[in-house]
This record gives sequence, structure tokens and C-alpha cells, in this order.
Amino acid sequence: MKRLLLVLSLLPFTCFSQTIGEANGGEVLFNPNNLACITEEAKANINTEVEVNVAKLIKQGKLSIKKASLAAPTFIWPVKKAATSNFNDVWAISNYVDHDATFPDKVQDYNCGTNTYDTSSGYNHSGTDIFTWPFSWYQMENNLAEVVAAAPGEIVYKNDGQFDKSCASNSNASWNAIYVQHSDGSRTWYGHLKNGSLTTKGVGDTVTAGEFLGIIGSSGNSTGPHLHFEVYDSNSNLVDPFSGTCNNITSWWQDQPDYYDPNINAVLTHSAAPNFDNPCPQVENTNLANKFLPNTDVYMAVYLKDQLVNTKTFWRLYAPSGSIQNNWSRLLPYSFTSSNTYWYWRFNDLSELGTWRLEVTYEGQKVTHEFEVAATLGVEDQKLAQISVAPNPFEDELKISGFTFDQADYNMAIFNQLGQKVIEKEVFSDRLNLQFLSKGLYFLNIGDKTTGSSKSFKIVKK
Ligand SMILES: [Zn+2]
Repeated sequence: MKRLLLVLSLLPFTCFSQTIGEANGGEVLFNPNNLACITEEAKANINTEVEVNVAKLIKQGKLSIKKASLAAPTFIWPVKKAATSNFNDVWAISNYVDHDATFPDKVQDYNCGTNTYDTSSGYNHSGTDIFTWPFSWYQMENNLAEVVAAAPGEIVYKNDGQFDKSCASNSNASWNAIYVQHSDGSRTWYGHLKNGSLTTKGVGDTVTAGEFLGIIGSSGNSTGPHLHFEVYDSNSNLVDPFSGTCNNITSWWQDQPDYYDPNINAVLTHSAAPNFDNPCPQVENTNLANKFLPNTDVYMAVYLKDQLVNTKTFWRLYAPSGSIQNNWSRLLPYSFTSSNTYWYWRFNDLSELGTWRLEVTYEGQKVTHEFEVAATLGVEDQKLAQISVAPNPFEDELKISGFTFDQADYNMAIFNQLGQKVIEKEVFSDRLNLQFLSKGLYFLNIGDKTTGSSKSFKIVKK
């Protein structure tokens, strides 16, 4: 009822300046075949490894022995948008923990819903699946969705080096993962990570809440890039951290997301229609563009998570002069709560040169996206693709090759594992002296100031 009132109260703003046709787009599913994230056998092996490491660490005096009397930790969200991402948000939840021990097709999530799964072989989903949306493979390729520690703790096991582009059952392969023990003895698992993306910290090292652990990937049993987040309490019992009618606990989250959490994940412009028909694991052809010639095709798209029935998106397109060129809205007549949606329009009548602003409002949230209409287009995007860095890992100096264009048009930034900017250069430089950086993993971002496109490299200081 509350939602309906909100829609009605926004109605006076829906004055159409011109007729806008129907949107294109639709629904994009994640893990439609309900593939088990991890086998019981693999879980048992992991637990054995963790116990061996924990015993070793205790013996070495490197792990505070678990004190069951300590309160369980409270979690921050384990997925974070990378500083280099220009999306509004990067994740959505596809599956919760299955509380119904019977199978198959006997499922119940914490909210007494069915946003979870089991398999005929007896697997009941034992974690929370958080996948990247939109353009999962593109996000993985460009390190745009980071996995971070949900609470402070100590790494008690780590697994890297596994193939990370699984599209189907891959039961012979392990996932890349990090396992963290918290001060009360509870543990969090972070699985399916991207190969080689894991923090340089190892077993016995401590991590703070929010500290970078790796990049979301598709290693192990997986149909696409997502994080499988699994929790055990101090007595090694599986925990569903979400509190609800069918999981009567105190939430382990500091700020538990709503069961239905409608959100704009991105407002983007494209040179051709966005689509998701790429064969797995090919990176989506995003057709992302932020610079257009006058009166050529501009595709304007919104990417929603948890679209609810009878909600509306409100669109406003501002010309460089500040006037409203178009103003329209779209009623969303269906719910898509276990999948995601994207909707777009094509315009070819933008002639005013300069910076345009597209503003989309959904469920009280407003997201804006800027793009250029210019008399000429560069070929910067293709050029960015040719850039490479070496050596990597590096000692003192990092060289960037393949750059043959105007240095003043590009900027550079280096981010640490916490997503903090440690170096910023307003102008491109093909040699970076990074002697003063401490050892570890960083991300170098090279950005085209005009088009907004960028390329990101994972770099390691030896
Ligand atoms: Zn999972």
C-alpha cells in the first residue's frame, strides 16, 4: 500500500513533452538451472583444511583461541563497487540459504519465500549468492565488483589459481576463495572469486571490516560471476545471517537489506542496443558509449534490480543548455524479484553540442548519467584497448606501452585494496615511479577525460 501511494504522489510530474514509444529490454536471469555452488564433499575438504590451519595458528600463537562468550560479529555488506566503476551499484541477490532440509524442490528462505534452491542430489543452498548486475562478465574483466571482509578477523584458509570462467557444473574444480575467522570463532566464506585477484595477505594475516579480499568471479561450480557468502557460528553450525519470519534470529547484518530491494544499478548510454545474448563466458558486448555525433543513435538504458509490480521509472533528459529535452515515465506492470531487468530507448534527435544529462528516478532514488554530443568522435576507446603495463609484478617503476595519443586527454589513478586513491595524475605518463608504494596489490586506472571510458589494470608491487 505504501508503494502505491508513492507512485500516485509522483503522478503530477509525469507531463509528457512529446510522445515516447515503448521501451525495449526485458528480464535477465541468473543461475536459471539452479546449480549447486559447492558440493558437500568439497565443503568437508575445506573444513578439514581450515581446522588444520587453525590448529597450526593456535600452536604458533597467531590466532586468539575462540571465546564462545564473545558476541557474534555484525556484518557490513561483503560486495563493494570498485572506485573505478561508473555504475550506481554492482550487485543483486539471486539466492538465499535454503531452510528446508528436504529435497528436491522443497525450499524456504529466511522470509518464508522461495528465493533459494536445492538439487535432486540433496544439496540445500547453504549461502547467499550475490551476483554482479549489469554486465557480469564485463564487471569481472574490469575488476568492478570487489569482495570485502564482512567483519574484522583473520584469514584461516585461502585458495587461488583455479579456473574462473565456469558456465556450468564444474565439480572437479575448486573455487578461488578466502575464509576468515572472527574473534568469537565464527567464520565467513567468500567463494567463486576471480583467479589471481585475491588479496596478497595469507593465512594468519588479519583483515579489517571492508578490506579487499578479491574480485567476484565464476570459479568452481558456477554459471556466472557471483559471490557465494557462507557463514558458520562459533560451534561450526551453518548460519543464515538474515533475520526473518522463517529464520528467527537477531540479524548478523549491521544494516540488513530488504527482502525486496528495488534499486537502480546503473543508468548508461550506448552506441547500439545493449544485449545479454553473449555466450557464456564471453564478455558482454556492452556497446557502452559516452560520446556521440549529433543526430545519431543514442541508446539510454536503466538497469534495475528487484523490479516491483506497478512501480514507475521517471526519465528526464537535459540538453547542454539546461532545458528539458524529454520528460517521460514508464509503468512497470510486472515484478521481477528473482531476476533483473533493463529498459532502454533509442533517440536520434540530439543535436545540441555539449554535455547532456540523463536523470532516472525509481522508488525515490535518482541516478544521473552524463554524456557528450560532439562534432567529431575520437577513436580513444579502441586506443585504450591497446594499452598494456609491464613489468607486472613490478619493483620500482611501471611502464605503460601502446599509448600513442594526446597525453593531456587522459588521467591516471592508482587505488589500493581498500579502494582508496593513493596516486592521482591529471595527465597521462608512460612511466610511473612507484618506489614509495608498500608491497601489495593495487589497481591502475587510465581514463579518457572526454569520453569517460577507462581501462583498469591489476598491478602488484613486489
Ligand atoms: Zn551459492
